[in-house]
Amino acid sequence: MTVFESKDFDHHEQVVYCSDARSGLRAIIAIHNTNLGPALGGCRMWPYAREEEALRDALRLSRGMTYKNALAGLDYGGGKAVVIGDPRTDKSEALLRAIARAVDSLGGRYITAEDVGMTVQDMDVLRQVTPHARGISRGCGNPSPATAFGVYNGIRAAVAYKLKRNGLDGLRVAVQGLGSVGGRLCDYLARDGARLAVADIDEPRVRQAVEAHGAEAVPVEEIAEYDAEVFAPCALGAILNDETIPRIKARIVAGAANNQLAEPRHGEALTARGILYAPDYVINAGGVIDVAAEGPGYDEDTVLARAAGIHDTLIGIFQRADAEGLPTSAIADRMAEERFLRE
Ligand code: NAD
Repeated sequence: MTVFESKDFDHHEQVVYCSDARSGLRAIIAIHNTNLGPALGGCRMWPYAREEEALRDALRLSRGMTYKNALAGLDYGGGKAVVIGDPRTDKSEALLRAIARAVDSLGGRYITAEDVGMTVQDMDVLRQVTPHARGISRGCGNPSPATAFGVYNGIRAAVAYKLKRNGLDGLRVAVQGLGSVGGRLCDYLARDGARLAVADIDEPRVRQAVEAHGAEAVPVEEIAEYDAEVFAPCALGAILNDETIPRIKARIVAGAANNQLAEPRHGEALTARGILYAPDYVINAGGVIDVAAEGPGYDEDTVLARAAGIHDTLIGIFQRADAEGLPTSAIADRMAEERFLRE
């Protein structure tokens, strides 16, 4: 296996293998592009069965961060760290300190933050070692509230554009996944009068949404095809695929989940069915907007105002997609490239 020959290699500037014998750390940090500024992206800890899978994730996710940060209007490039191991059994303070030293050795070219398998408390440990760790408890903390607020504004944009409706009153929204983002998203939607249908493999979360918002509980295998105006995937990646797309009844797909399209061609499949798709990395950028703002002068209201700007970014993408007859996902990629490749 070589990096340059990997099909996920996309002229990444730097790929660093990190190890530490004492803590057992094995990690890969990938810096995709720093044209707009230092590479910013989370640190994921996952029990990858094979090194190739970890490399693949590092390459793919760091590239995704370049696009996300560019379209969020941030002066940051894209990077990602992946730690090979099970966060429930392999994580230790020594390991966190070791990954922090690896991040620090890059001298600020890569700035890390929380991702799957990492917590705000873990970022606090990293921060003791390196200034290049964000999302700490005395900083912005958990970025999920900002993500949920951005997704809520993105849904409002899609509804205004596609359905020519101002506001969400009476609108049916099917939410898949009621975790940190999906749960808060339901609060915003319900407050605006949306009628919710919800699904989660975690039964208490479903019960909570039913009790708090009068949501309808839907079996997990039926939520993607639920008869609603909006389908909001907030759980899994690759949920938009050959099997689900023909069955989706919603006219809009807009949710927080990362990597919703199983393959790029599924963006075309949605367009062909007349379904308006809010590109995932555009609508879910509230969290990285929050993390990017951490530091002296951090102001939550400014962050939320910026996350609300996802509304207008999406309107611009929808308009251009219609004008050029291309999927919204392709237009988003193009607009991101116009920003970061020009620098
Ligand atoms: P989370 O782990 O808190 O919540 C995910 C929820 O999905 C959980 O309640 C889980 O039980 C549920 N779930 C898992 N499998 C399911 C299935 N088959 N059907 C229905 N529900 C299922 O995660 P989160 O932080 O809320 O993030 C949700 C999605 O948004 C993820 O894809 C994440 O990568 C993405 N995202 C999150 C943020 C953030 O700030 N947290 C930012 C950008 C993108």
